[in-house]
Amino acid sequence: MSNHDRDPILLTPGPLTTSLATKAAMLRDWGSWDAAFNAVTARVRGKLTDIVHAADTHVCVPMQGSGTFSVEAAVNTIVPRDGHVLVLINGAYGKRLARLTELMGRRTTTFETADDVPTTAEDVDRLLASDASITHVGLIHCETSTGIENPLREIAAVVARHGRSLVVDAMSSFGALPIDARTTPFDALIAASGKCVEGPPGMGFVFVRKSVLERCAGNSSSLALDLHDQWTYMERTTQWRFTPPTHVVVALDAALDQYVAEGGQPARLARYAANYEALMAGMRELGFRSFLPPAIQAPIIVTFHAPEDTKYAFKPFYDRVRDKGFILYPGKLTQVETFRVGCIGAIGPAEMRHAVNAVRDTLAEMGIRSVAGGAARAAA
Ligand SMILES: *Cc1c(COP(=O)(O)O)cnc(C)c1O
Repeated sequence: MSNHDRDPILLTPGPLTTSLATKAAMLRDWGSWDAAFNAVTARVRGKLTDIVHAADTHVCVPMQGSGTFSVEAAVNTIVPRDGHVLVLINGAYGKRLARLTELMGRRTTTFETADDVPTTAEDVDRLLASDASITHVGLIHCETSTGIENPLREIAAVVARHGRSLVVDAMSSFGALPIDARTTPFDALIAASGKCVEGPPGMGFVFVRKSVLERCAGNSSSLALDLHDQWTYMERTTQWRFTPPTHVVVALDAALDQYVAEGGQPARLARYAANYEALMAGMRELGFRSFLPPAIQAPIIVTFHAPEDTKYAFKPFYDRVRDKGFILYPGKLTQVETFRVGCIGAIGPAEMRHAVNAVRDTLAEMGIRSVAGGAARAAA
Protein backbone atom coordinates (compact mmCIF):
# COMPACT_ATOMS: atom_id res chain seq x y z
CA MET A 1 0.00 0.00 0.00
CA SER A 2 1.24 3.45 -0.87
CA ASN A 3 1.50 6.24 1.65
CA HIS A 4 1.22 8.90 -1.04
CA ASP A 5 -2.51 9.31 -0.63
CA ARG A 6 -2.39 10.20 3.05
CA ASP A 7 -0.62 12.83 5.09
CA PRO A 8 2.88 11.88 6.20
CA ILE A 9 3.45 11.52 9.95
CA LEU A 10 5.26 14.62 11.18
CA LEU A 11 8.20 13.65 13.39
CA THR A 12 9.01 17.31 13.94
CA PRO A 13 8.68 19.67 16.91
CA GLY A 14 5.71 21.51 15.38
CA PRO A 15 3.70 21.66 13.32
CA LEU A 16 2.97 18.09 14.33
CA THR A 17 0.49 15.35 13.52
CA THR A 18 -2.93 16.21 14.95
CA SER A 19 -5.90 13.92 15.57
CA LEU A 20 -8.84 13.70 13.20
CA ALA A 21 -11.10 15.28 15.86
CA THR A 22 -8.75 18.27 16.09
CA LYS A 23 -8.63 18.67 12.31
CA ALA A 24 -12.42 18.29 12.03
CA ALA A 25 -12.96 21.12 14.52
CA MET A 26 -11.60 23.50 11.87
CA LEU A 27 -14.42 22.85 9.40
CA ARG A 28 -16.44 25.86 10.55
CA ASP A 29 -16.28 29.61 10.16
CA TRP A 30 -16.55 31.84 13.20
CA GLY A 31 -17.10 35.56 13.60
CA SER A 32 -14.59 37.30 15.81
CA TRP A 33 -17.35 39.37 17.47
CA ASP A 34 -19.59 36.41 18.01
CA ALA A 35 -20.28 35.52 21.65
CA ALA A 36 -19.98 31.80 20.87
CA PHE A 37 -16.43 32.24 19.58
CA ASN A 38 -15.39 34.46 22.48
CA ALA A 39 -16.68 31.82 24.87
CA VAL A 40 -14.33 29.34 23.18
CA THR A 41 -11.42 31.75 23.71
CA ALA A 42 -12.25 32.09 27.40
CA ARG A 43 -12.57 28.33 27.77
CA VAL A 44 -9.22 27.69 26.06
CA ARG A 45 -7.46 30.23 28.30
CA GLY A 46 -8.91 28.51 31.36
CA LYS A 47 -7.93 25.01 30.25
CA LEU A 48 -4.39 26.12 29.43
CA THR A 49 -4.01 27.82 32.82
CA ASP A 50 -5.13 24.65 34.60
CA ILE A 51 -2.30 22.67 32.99
CA VAL A 52 0.28 24.69 34.96
CA HIS A 53 -1.95 25.13 38.04
CA ALA A 54 -1.74 28.90 37.70
CA ALA A 55 -5.38 29.99 38.05
CA ASP A 56 -4.77 31.74 41.39
CA THR A 57 -1.65 33.63 40.36
CA HIS A 58 -1.35 34.09 36.61
CA VAL A 59 -3.43 35.10 33.61
CA CYS A 60 -3.20 33.40 30.22
CA VAL A 61 -2.79 35.96 27.45
CA PRO A 62 -3.12 34.47 23.96
CA MET A 63 -1.26 36.00 21.03
CA GLN A 64 -1.66 35.53 17.28
CA GLY A 65 1.28 34.09 15.39
CA SER A 66 3.92 31.40 15.81
CA GLY A 67 5.60 30.76 19.16
CA THR A 68 8.32 33.34 18.62
CA PHE A 69 5.72 36.12 18.40
CA SER A 70 4.67 35.29 21.95
CA VAL A 71 8.26 35.11 23.20
CA GLU A 72 8.90 38.53 21.74
CA ALA A 73 5.61 39.84 23.19
CA ALA A 74 6.50 38.49 26.63
CA VAL A 75 9.93 40.12 26.73
CA ASN A 76 8.61 43.34 25.28
CA THR A 77 5.76 43.55 27.77
CA ILE A 78 7.29 42.18 30.97
CA VAL A 79 10.73 43.77 30.82
CA PRO A 80 10.74 47.55 31.42
CA ARG A 81 12.70 49.55 28.84
CA ASP A 82 15.52 50.04 31.34
CA GLY A 83 15.50 46.38 32.40
CA HIS A 84 18.50 44.08 32.12
CA VAL A 85 17.96 40.51 30.95
CA LEU A 86 20.30 37.59 31.57
CA VAL A 87 19.66 35.04 28.82
CA LEU A 88 20.77 31.46 29.46
CA ILE A 89 21.82 29.79 26.23
CA ASN A 90 22.58 26.23 25.17
CA GLY A 91 21.18 26.16 21.68
CA ALA A 92 19.46 28.02 18.87
CA TYR A 93 16.31 29.02 20.78
CA GLY A 94 18.38 30.58 23.55
CA LYS A 95 20.28 32.52 20.91
CA ARG A 96 16.98 33.63 19.38
CA LEU A 97 15.74 34.81 22.79
CA ALA A 98 18.90 36.87 23.28
CA ARG A 99 18.63 38.32 19.77
CA LEU A 100 15.02 39.43 20.12
CA THR A 101 15.66 40.87 23.58
CA GLU A 102 18.47 42.95 22.12
CA LEU A 103 16.29 44.02 19.19
CA MET A 104 13.60 45.14 21.65
CA GLY A 105 16.24 47.49 22.99
CA ARG A 106 16.63 45.83 26.38
CA ARG A 107 20.07 45.51 27.91
CA THR A 108 21.08 41.88 27.37
CA THR A 109 23.74 39.70 28.96
CA THR A 110 24.20 36.12 27.83
CA PHE A 111 25.55 33.04 29.55
CA GLU A 112 26.27 30.21 27.18
CA THR A 113 27.08 26.56 27.79
CA ALA A 114 27.76 23.90 25.15
CA ASP A 115 24.82 22.30 23.33
CA ASP A 116 25.05 19.21 25.54
CA VAL A 117 25.51 21.01 28.87
CA PRO A 118 22.41 22.12 30.83
CA THR A 119 22.50 25.45 32.63
CA THR A 120 22.63 24.80 36.37
CA ALA A 121 21.08 26.59 39.33
CA GLU A 122 24.64 27.14 40.62
CA ASP A 123 25.53 28.99 37.40
CA VAL A 124 22.50 31.25 37.80
CA ASP A 125 23.17 31.79 41.52
CA ARG A 126 26.73 32.92 40.76
CA LEU A 127 25.70 35.16 37.85
CA LEU A 128 22.95 36.90 39.82
CA ALA A 129 25.15 37.33 42.89
CA SER A 130 27.81 39.03 40.79
CA ASP A 131 25.51 41.47 38.95
CA ALA A 132 22.80 43.30 40.87
CA SER A 133 21.71 45.20 37.74
CA ILE A 134 20.14 42.05 36.21
CA THR A 135 16.36 42.38 36.56
CA HIS A 136 15.17 39.39 34.54
CA VAL A 137 16.39 35.92 33.62
CA GLY A 138 15.42 34.28 30.32
CA LEU A 139 15.46 30.48 30.22
CA ILE A 140 14.62 27.87 27.58
CA HIS A 141 13.05 24.91 29.42
CA CYS A 142 13.50 22.28 26.71
CA GLU A 143 16.04 23.52 24.14
CA THR A 144 14.45 22.04 21.02
CA SER A 145 17.56 22.44 18.89
CA THR A 146 18.96 19.34 20.63
CA GLY A 147 16.19 18.14 22.99
CA ILE A 148 18.14 19.02 26.16
CA GLU A 149 16.12 19.74 29.32
CA ASN A 150 17.27 22.59 31.55
CA PRO A 151 16.44 22.35 35.29
CA LEU A 152 13.51 24.77 35.45
CA ARG A 153 12.47 24.11 39.04
CA GLU A 154 15.94 24.62 40.51
CA ILE A 155 16.67 27.70 38.41
CA ALA A 156 13.28 29.23 39.24
CA ALA A 157 13.98 28.82 42.96
CA VAL A 158 17.34 30.58 42.64
CA VAL A 159 15.93 33.45 40.59
CA ALA A 160 13.15 33.94 43.16
CA ARG A 161 15.63 33.84 46.04
CA HIS A 162 17.56 36.69 44.37
CA GLY A 163 14.33 38.64 43.91
CA ARG A 164 14.60 38.74 40.11
CA SER A 165 11.99 37.96 37.50
CA LEU A 166 11.96 34.74 35.45
CA VAL A 167 10.78 34.49 31.83
CA VAL A 168 10.54 30.90 30.59
CA ASP A 169 10.27 29.71 27.00
CA ALA A 170 8.47 26.42 27.66
CA MET A 171 7.36 26.07 24.07
CA SER A 172 8.29 22.43 23.52
CA SER A 173 7.80 21.22 27.11
CA PHE A 174 4.45 22.76 28.14
CA GLY A 175 1.77 20.11 28.43
CA ALA A 176 4.22 17.21 28.50
CA LEU A 177 6.81 17.94 31.20
CA PRO A 178 5.41 18.83 34.63
CA ILE A 179 5.27 22.58 35.34
CA ASP A 180 3.52 23.78 38.48
CA ALA A 181 3.17 27.52 39.10
CA ARG A 182 2.32 26.84 42.77
CA THR A 183 5.82 25.49 43.44
CA THR A 184 7.87 26.86 40.54
CA PRO A 185 7.87 30.66 40.61
CA PHE A 186 7.91 32.45 37.23
CA ASP A 187 6.61 35.82 36.05
CA ALA A 188 6.07 34.74 32.44
CA LEU A 189 5.96 31.34 30.78
CA ILE A 190 5.44 30.99 27.06
CA ALA A 191 4.10 28.15 24.90
CA ALA A 192 2.07 27.66 21.73
CA SER A 193 -0.85 25.79 20.21
CA GLY A 194 1.12 23.54 17.89
CA LYS A 195 3.42 21.64 20.22
CA CYS A 196 2.69 19.21 23.07
CA VAL A 197 -0.98 20.17 23.41
CA GLU A 198 -1.28 18.92 19.80
CA GLY A 199 -3.27 21.75 18.25
CA PRO A 200 -2.55 23.32 14.87
CA PRO A 201 0.10 26.07 14.79
CA GLY A 202 -0.84 29.74 14.73
CA MET A 203 -1.39 30.86 18.30
CA GLY A 204 0.94 31.38 21.22
CA PHE A 205 0.08 32.16 24.82
CA VAL A 206 1.86 33.59 27.82
CA PHE A 207 1.07 32.92 31.47
CA VAL A 208 1.92 36.17 33.20
CA ARG A 209 1.83 36.74 36.92
CA LYS A 210 -1.21 38.97 37.35
CA SER A 211 0.42 41.34 39.84
CA VAL A 212 3.28 41.84 37.37
CA LEU A 213 1.14 42.30 34.26
CA GLU A 214 -0.93 44.96 36.01
CA ARG A 215 2.21 47.08 36.17
CA CYS A 216 3.32 46.52 32.55
CA ALA A 217 1.32 49.23 30.75
CA GLY A 218 3.57 51.21 28.44
CA ASN A 219 6.52 48.82 28.50
CA SER A 220 5.95 47.50 25.00
CA SER A 221 7.64 49.22 22.09
CA SER A 222 5.38 47.30 19.71
CA LEU A 223 1.67 47.82 19.11
CA ALA A 224 0.84 44.28 17.96
CA LEU A 225 3.02 42.46 20.51
CA ASP A 226 1.74 44.25 23.60
CA LEU A 227 0.46 41.60 26.02
CA HIS A 228 -0.81 44.18 28.49
CA ASP A 229 -2.99 45.78 25.83
CA GLN A 230 -4.12 42.39 24.52
CA TRP A 231 -5.06 41.36 28.06
CA THR A 232 -6.90 44.52 29.11
CA TYR A 233 -8.81 44.63 25.80
CA MET A 234 -9.80 40.97 26.16
CA GLU A 235 -10.88 41.46 29.78
CA ARG A 236 -12.99 44.45 28.79
CA THR A 237 -14.59 43.10 25.60
CA THR A 238 -14.03 39.28 25.72
CA GLN A 239 -12.65 39.73 22.18
CA TRP A 240 -9.21 39.52 20.67
CA ARG A 241 -7.71 42.94 19.94
CA PHE A 242 -6.99 42.16 16.28
CA THR A 243 -8.22 39.36 13.97
CA PRO A 244 -8.08 36.10 15.92
CA PRO A 245 -6.88 32.80 14.42
CA THR A 246 -10.42 31.43 14.77
CA HIS A 247 -9.86 27.95 13.36
CA VAL A 248 -6.76 27.48 15.47
CA VAL A 249 -8.59 28.50 18.64
CA VAL A 250 -11.50 26.09 18.13
CA ALA A 251 -9.15 23.26 17.11
CA LEU A 252 -7.03 23.91 20.19
CA ASP A 253 -10.20 23.75 22.29
CA ALA A 254 -10.90 20.29 20.81
CA ALA A 255 -7.27 19.22 21.30
CA LEU A 256 -7.43 20.27 24.96
CA ASP A 257 -10.59 18.17 25.49
CA GLN A 258 -8.65 15.19 24.18
CA TYR A 259 -5.70 16.13 26.38
CA VAL A 260 -7.90 16.00 29.48
CA ALA A 261 -9.63 12.79 28.33
CA GLU A 262 -6.25 11.12 27.83
CA GLY A 263 -5.33 11.88 31.44
CA GLY A 264 -3.68 15.30 31.24
CA GLN A 265 0.03 16.00 31.61
CA PRO A 266 1.08 12.67 33.20
CA ALA A 267 -0.59 10.70 30.40
CA ARG A 268 0.86 12.95 27.70
CA LEU A 269 4.33 12.54 29.15
CA ALA A 270 3.86 8.75 29.44
CA ARG A 271 2.89 8.46 25.77
CA TYR A 272 5.81 10.61 24.63
CA ALA A 273 8.17 8.62 26.86
CA ALA A 274 6.88 5.41 25.23
CA ASN A 275 7.41 7.00 21.80
CA TYR A 276 10.93 7.96 22.80
CA GLU A 277 11.73 4.44 24.08
CA ALA A 278 10.38 2.80 20.91
CA LEU A 279 12.38 5.21 18.76
CA MET A 280 15.61 4.76 20.72
CA ALA A 281 15.35 0.97 20.81
CA GLY A 282 14.82 0.79 17.04
CA MET A 283 17.46 3.35 16.11
CA ARG A 284 20.04 1.79 18.44
CA GLU A 285 19.45 -1.52 16.72
CA LEU A 286 20.29 0.17 13.40
CA GLY A 287 23.52 1.51 14.91
CA PHE A 288 22.42 5.11 15.51
CA ARG A 289 23.66 7.05 18.54
CA SER A 290 21.89 10.00 20.11
CA PHE A 291 23.79 13.26 20.59
CA LEU A 292 22.69 13.68 24.22
CA PRO A 293 23.07 11.23 27.11
CA PRO A 294 19.64 10.00 28.32
CA ALA A 295 19.99 11.79 31.70
CA ILE A 296 19.59 15.26 30.14
CA GLN A 297 17.38 14.23 27.21
CA ALA A 298 13.69 15.22 27.27
CA PRO A 299 11.36 12.74 25.49
CA ILE A 300 10.33 15.52 23.09
CA ILE A 301 12.83 15.43 20.26
CA VAL A 302 16.00 13.38 19.75
CA THR A 303 19.14 14.49 17.94
CA PHE A 304 20.96 11.63 16.21
CA HIS A 305 24.45 11.61 14.80
CA ALA A 306 24.19 11.29 11.03
CA PRO A 307 25.63 8.11 9.47
CA GLU A 308 29.31 8.59 8.84
CA ASP A 309 29.10 6.60 5.58
CA THR A 310 30.11 8.80 2.61
CA LYS A 311 26.92 7.69 0.81
CA TYR A 312 24.86 9.62 3.39
CA ALA A 313 23.43 13.07 2.72
CA PHE A 314 20.46 14.50 4.63
CA LYS A 315 18.39 15.56 1.60
CA PRO A 316 18.11 12.18 -0.22
CA PHE A 317 17.78 10.44 3.16
CA TYR A 318 14.94 12.79 4.12
CA ASP A 319 13.24 12.40 0.70
CA ARG A 320 13.29 8.63 0.83
CA VAL A 321 11.98 8.48 4.41
CA ARG A 322 9.30 10.97 3.40
CA ASP A 323 8.24 8.76 0.49
CA LYS A 324 7.62 6.08 3.10
CA GLY A 325 5.32 8.41 5.04
CA PHE A 326 7.48 10.10 7.69
CA ILE A 327 8.84 13.63 7.92
CA LEU A 328 12.15 13.96 9.74
CA TYR A 329 13.78 17.19 10.90
CA PRO A 330 17.23 18.49 9.98
CA GLY A 331 19.88 18.93 12.66
CA LYS A 332 20.58 22.36 14.10
CA LEU A 333 24.16 21.95 15.30
CA THR A 334 27.10 23.59 13.62
CA GLN A 335 29.87 21.34 14.96
CA VAL A 336 28.49 17.87 14.14
CA GLU A 337 26.34 16.44 11.36
CA THR A 338 23.01 15.40 12.89
CA PHE A 339 19.31 14.98 12.18
CA ARG A 340 16.37 15.10 14.58
CA VAL A 341 13.29 12.97 15.19
CA GLY A 342 10.35 14.34 17.18
CA CYS A 343 8.44 12.13 19.64
CA ILE A 344 5.46 14.48 19.99
CA GLY A 345 2.09 14.69 18.25
CA ALA A 346 -0.99 12.49 17.99
CA ILE A 347 1.10 9.37 17.46
CA GLY A 348 2.11 6.35 19.54
CA PRO A 349 4.93 3.80 19.73
CA ALA A 350 3.55 1.89 16.72
CA GLU A 351 4.16 4.94 14.50
CA MET A 352 7.67 5.26 15.91
CA ARG A 353 8.41 1.63 15.03
CA HIS A 354 7.09 2.16 11.51
CA ALA A 355 9.34 5.23 11.23
CA VAL A 356 12.36 3.17 12.28
CA ASN A 357 11.45 0.63 9.59
CA ALA A 358 11.33 3.43 7.02
CA VAL A 359 14.81 4.53 8.14
CA ARG A 360 16.05 0.92 7.91
CA ASP A 361 14.75 0.50 4.36
CA THR A 362 16.20 3.87 3.37
CA LEU A 363 19.66 2.94 4.65
CA ALA A 364 19.50 -0.25 2.57
CA GLU A 365 18.35 1.62 -0.55
CA MET A 366 21.16 4.16 -0.20
CA GLY A 367 23.73 1.42 0.42
CA ILE A 368 24.67 2.93 3.80
CA ARG A 369 26.46 0.39 5.98
CA SER A 370 28.37 2.46 8.50
CA VAL A 371 25.81 4.18 10.72
CA ALA A 372 27.61 4.91 14.00
CA GLY A 373 28.29 8.65 14.21
CA GLY A 374 31.79 10.04 14.65
CA ALA A 375 31.52 10.76 18.38
CA ALA A 376 30.25 7.26 19.19
CA ARG A 377 33.03 5.76 17.10
CA ALA A 378 35.68 7.74 18.93
CA ALA A 379 34.23 6.74 22.30
CA ALA A 380 33.95 3.04 21.41
C1 LIG B 1 9.03 25.92 18.61
C2 LIG B 1 9.81 26.72 19.56
C3 LIG B 1 9.73 28.12 19.57
C4 LIG B 1 8.88 28.92 18.62
O1 LIG B 1 9.18 28.68 17.31
P1 LIG B 1 8.19 29.20 16.19
O2 LIG B 1 8.81 28.68 14.93
O3 LIG B 1 8.14 30.66 16.25
O4 LIG B 1 6.85 28.57 16.49
C5 LIG B 1 10.43 28.81 20.54
N1 LIG B 1 11.17 28.17 21.45
C6 LIG B 1 11.28 26.83 21.48
C7 LIG B 1 12.11 26.18 22.52
C8 LIG B 1 10.60 26.06 20.53
O5 LIG B 1 10.69 24.72 20.56
